Amino acid sequence: MRIPDIIEAKRDGLELTSEQMEYFIEGVATGNIPGEQIGAWLMAVYQNGMTMDERTEFTRLMRDSGEVIDWQDSKNLYVDKHSTGGVGDKMSLVLAPALAACGLKVPMIAGRGLAHTGGTIDKLESIPGFNTDGGEKEIREAIETAGCCIYAQSQRITPADGVLYAIRDVTATVPSVPLITASIISKKSAEGVGNLVLDIKVGSAAFMQHVDEARELAHSMIEVGKGLGMQIRVLLTQMDLPIGTHIGNSHEVIEILEILEGTGSWDSISLIAIQGAHLLQMSGMVETVEQGQMRILETLSNGSAAAHFRRMCAAQGVSQQVLNDLSSHLDIAPFSFTLHSAMDGWVEDIDALELSKVLCELGAGRVSAEDDVDHGVGAVIKSEIGKQVAEGDLILSVHHREEELSEHYMQRLESCIGISDAPVSIQERLIEVIE
Ligand code: URA
Repeated sequence: MRIPDIIEAKRDGLELTSEQMEYFIEGVATGNIPGEQIGAWLMAVYQNGMTMDERTEFTRLMRDSGEVIDWQDSKNLYVDKHSTGGVGDKMSLVLAPALAACGLKVPMIAGRGLAHTGGTIDKLESIPGFNTDGGEKEIREAIETAGCCIYAQSQRITPADGVLYAIRDVTATVPSVPLITASIISKKSAEGVGNLVLDIKVGSAAFMQHVDEARELAHSMIEVGKGLGMQIRVLLTQMDLPIGTHIGNSHEVIEILEILEGTGSWDSISLIAIQGAHLLQMSGMVETVEQGQMRILETLSNGSAAAHFRRMCAAQGVSQQVLNDLSSHLDIAPFSFTLHSAMDGWVEDIDALELSKVLCELGAGRVSAEDDVDHGVGAVIKSEIGKQVAEGDLILSVHHREEELSEHYMQRLESCIGISDAPVSIQERLIEVIE
């Protein structure tokens, strides 16, 4: 078999055979195919797509490029959630321990942030000592002691995805439904989970701007998941406004500590509760979604989610000394720029896309996959959407490392805030559920 023939077949819109895809994936995972051939193949898939059978087989082969965990008969109790990326989207850090506190197991593989959206792994790495590099052995140990864990995709888990994702990122082939499907579902299938909730973000600050595109991705994921023995439910959720009160890596950890202490923003808590509720229902732990929401909220108010969070941190390398006073160990950038209301009124808009782009340029995010992120750059929303404010009230604080923040950034940040002279209604996050 020859790689140019496999590229040619895809270029001409043919369905690849299982043998062709196996040969290709093996070459990708072992580093035997040069980047230009992989790039050409990815562009051919981007242009011509894949049939559902083809993407299911491709996803299975991607999964099998690394370690695959088998939880055997209890697979139904192993669950996970994946989000397509939002601004202030810190849900996984609370959801995993909350579900573990309800008796489910969450062996999560998460990603780093790309473009303007933050990644769960970057947020966790703002906790001193938190180790995100693991394979089957580390996942099994953490599940045993904490009921949940969050590791990064690695050389051991779906290595083919690591190679393909890095090349997609520089060849304009990320936004392809078959490639996104295979990338996400291969990782979830390698975890061995039986039930998965996918939170597909829709809106101005999401990769999917329109509900129709999100539905197409949802159906692709559900079908491929079914083919690999996983039950998937998709939640389409609004992503125009930042989620909760904190944005940025260390900043979001501060917000999750508040949520785990039983306080925190209702915007974040309600999203965590709805995601958790669907997983509890799918795995048969509750009958209705409403019961599931109550169970998740109980774990936040009775401290059991917080206890599982601490166990997860300890299982992944965080010392007792850091855990005893976690918030004081988080790095927060030393300078702040504050934005105040220019008039009496109600907070109507905080532009998630522009705010996250500015934070990203100030160091909170990465432009390419190899960049380091500055965990201490971020923002705190002091007046959430819908809140009544008086002229001069504090709306937003931005923490950064520029001794003098340039005029250009100040203007862009000021343009993010909208104040209305009439009360504003708060948009529901949940748009629809697809299964
Ligand atoms: N997240 C992933 O892990 N893969 C994609 O292709 C897109 C988002």
